[in-house]
Amino acid sequence: MKLVFIGPPGIGKGTYAKAISQKYGIPHISTGDIFREEIAKGSELGRRVKEYVDKGLLVPDEIVIEVVKRRLSQPDCAKGFILDGFPRTLRQAEALDQITRIDAVLLFNAPLEIIIERVSGRRICPNCGAIYHVKWRPPKTPDVCDVCGARLIKRRDDEPDVVRRRYEIYLQTFTPIIEYYRRKGLLVEVDASHEAEEVVMEIERILKRLGLIKE
Ligand SMILES: [Zn+2]
Repeated sequence: MKLVFIGPPGIGKGTYAKAISQKYGIPHISTGDIFREEIAKGSELGRRVKEYVDKGLLVPDEIVIEVVKRRLSQPDCAKGFILDGFPRTLRQAEALDQITRIDAVLLFNAPLEIIIERVSGRRICPNCGAIYHVKWRPPKTPDVCDVCGARLIKRRDDEPDVVRRRYEIYLQTFTPIIEYYRRKGLLVEVDASHEAEEVVMEIERILKRLGLIKE
């Protein structure tokens, strides 16, 4: 079950990937997470990546491809994996085809207004990292963390104008990749405008239909 997940920021891709990863025992591979870990460890790779991140630049294709190739050669990827955040350029998509054969590419869609509603209600605890939502996961006391009592904050990234801008960038970046996979017949669109559990069930229905998981 070799999967690629694509979707705009705030669509909940990471949440769905985590749920499928846990249930079916395949790793959820986020290049962003790998880079953050390597930077935190201060490894050689981390130092190389940090140079670009600090300048606000994208990490070059060669480095990203190398990282993914190495990660996919680990034994835990034998049964499959979920790639999240990769590929993000056509060159990366072509390189991935050289590394392995992908079974399906799931494209998560929802109207922008729904994404904005979801994201702008998010509240984060700056102290312990707990995540809340004013509507779906409110803290017991408004704006106060249930876990540690710190005052919750709203991230700048979750403001509607930022979400809109990131959505535009997402469309520009991913349209060629989406078309690439559509032409290959690998693209499956998933309606992600419902609650997370429903979306996960929809993913499972798709994977069953594709014969990637059993009934
Ligand atoms: Zn907290």
